[in-house]
Amino acid sequence: MYEGVVQDLIDELGRLPGVGPKSAQRIAFHLLQADPTDVRRLADVLIEVKAKVKFCSICFNVSEDDQCRICRDPRRDQSVLCVVEEYKDVVAIERTREFKGRYHVLGGALDPLSGVGPDQLRIRQLLQRIGNQVDGRDVAEIIIATDPNTEGEATATYLVRMLRDFPGLTVTRLASGLPMGGDLEFADELTLGRAMSGRRVV
Ligand SMILES: [Zn+2]
Repeated sequence: MYEGVVQDLIDELGRLPGVGPKSAQRIAFHLLQADPTDVRRLADVLIEVKAKVKFCSICFNVSEDDQCRICRDPRRDQSVLCVVEEYKDVVAIERTREFKGRYHVLGGALDPLSGVGPDQLRIRQLLQRIGNQVDGRDVAEIIIATDPNTEGEATATYLVRMLRDFPGLTVTRLASGLPMGGDLEFADELTLGRAMSGRRVV
């Protein structure tokens, strides 16, 4: 245990994902020795990102405006929605350049043991989105692109059940070939691109 504010810093850093107690200590001591200007820049960008970046009101992608870049782009196909867990999955799929539709970001995956049920995700908003577009711009296809792990599979199964009864809606999933147990964003572009183009109807 360290004195006052140093320990506070270690505690705060230790709450970040993937940062264990040892790493938290190492980062804290790095910051203590770093140039004040560098530390100030880090502090500023942390505050700025929270102030500026919000969620897109349509797809819940992160965005600096009310609607994200993808939802604002008239060239993106409105009839195809790709459902992903997190913003980083949008980035991963965009990198493949295989997808020209739009997204819906759930904000996680079903994980009952950690208290994440359907109400904690943006599933209701997804159903509303599909139900609302009745003016000749119906959503024709939903691509479920959750992570290839237990929680992602459970989420996909749940979504398929919820989406089954929408008339005229095709529900597809990414083709197999993604490394099981992993996160979508860790798949290389080629594999993810192939999984997208080879998606199958469920
Ligand atoms: Zn959006």
